[in-house]
Amino acid sequence: MKELTRKRILVTGGAGFLGSHLCERLVAQGHDVLCVDNFYTGTKDNIAHLLDCANFELMRHDVTFPLYVEVDEIYNLACPASPIHYQYDPVQTTKTSVHGAINMLGLAKRVKARIFQASTSEVYGDALVHPQKEDYWGHVNPIGPRSCYDEGKRCAETLFVDYRRQHGLSIRIARIFNTYGPRMHPADGRVVSNFMMQALRGEPLTVYGDGTQTRSFCYVDDMIDAFVRLMNSGDDSGGPVNLGNPHEVSMREIAQRIIAVTGSSSTLAARPLPADDPWHRQPDISRARQLLGWEPATSLDEGLQKTARYFRARLAASGQTAPQAVKAGAAAG
Ligand code: NAD
Ligand code: UDP
Ligand code: UDP
Repeated sequence: MKELTRKRILVTGGAGFLGSHLCERLVAQGHDVLCVDNFYTGTKDNIAHLLDCANFELMRHDVTFPLYVEVDEIYNLACPASPIHYQYDPVQTTKTSVHGAINMLGLAKRVKARIFQASTSEVYGDALVHPQKEDYWGHVNPIGPRSCYDEGKRCAETLFVDYRRQHGLSIRIARIFNTYGPRMHPADGRVVSNFMMQALRGEPLTVYGDGTQTRSFCYVDDMIDAFVRLMNSGDDSGGPVNLGNPHEVSMREIAQRIIAVTGSSSTLAARPLPADDPWHRQPDISRARQLLGWEPATSLDEGLQKTARYFRARLAASGQTAPQAVKAGAAAG
């Protein structure tokens, strides 16, 4: 890449699910990528294939502590994302979102870097408006089991917007809706990873509540396209942008699809609905369409097939596959 267009880019949380795909994309584009991670939920395995690249560097660091490096752009992704991970140490989750944002914004201010925040659809909480648009202020419990994540991310958005107003920073805020794909942690408790692992092992798929609650799932490659477009967009208004796939499905439906895609003979098993579980979630992506010329290109079945291949390979590598539980001639994987 030409010196003029090559940037030094910091990706915090770069060893996680989304971060590793982002690092891969930026390295392939020829940028110098610095991946910073404390390996709380991410792993070296996720970025092992990048370690030999001359334009990739890995640093173990916790973003709740100051970081002094020289970069042109910052993608701030560091934060556990799945409920079981962010609820394990809720105080640390809030610190990561809030102190992490302050440190990365302070860094961006000093080196005059543009900075991107991985925010979340959780800022809408258990939404009373459907689908969710960026101007909806949300319906969030400030003291519930999900609050460390939801309120931490809301505070981070406030910090980003105030650093823009007060210090003139160039910011980008992505409100990310449920994303899935290869390198999801198989034990992160999220619905796609749980159902995939259960289906491939021939175990019952654990549907929480009556399974009529909905989510809208975006395949990881589409999401990374949107990240890079948003970072490079000419719009400097700093307003948040919903990123996700508007295709909404119930948990029952995604269970059935995962069973079909994996060719599993698993059944469904009802389990209690966790506290404060949002009822419906679907992004309105009009703003992303208009601003970024972007919309997801991967269908749910195509994305689930690619994800099934990844989980199947992981299971096989660990010698755990239960082929007797999977019908012969499985559709994918
Ligand atoms: P992940 O858990 O796989 O990745 C998070 C990464 O951050 C991990 O590598 C972890 O080790 C690292 N990390 C955590 N705390 C840190 C700290 N204090 N210092 C340095 N590194 C730290 O999760 P993900 O799904 O890749 O999510 C990435 C980002 O996107 C998160 O900020 C998350 O809130 C956001 N997001 C993700 C989704 C989704 O569906 N995956 C949806 C909405 C928002
Ligand atoms: N910071 C950092 N790297 C830098 C510059 C700042 O990690 O290169 C951190 C530092 O911990 C600081 C925080 O960012 O406390 C906020 O910085 P800012 O300049 O906004 O505020 P101040 O330094 O006055 O606290
Ligand atoms: N869920 C489920 N079975 C599982 C894991 C999750 O039915 O084994 C449900 C969960 O209650 C929620 C939805 O799936 O309604 C999405 O959960 P996830 O943790 O993946 O994402 P989030 O709730 O953060 O959107």
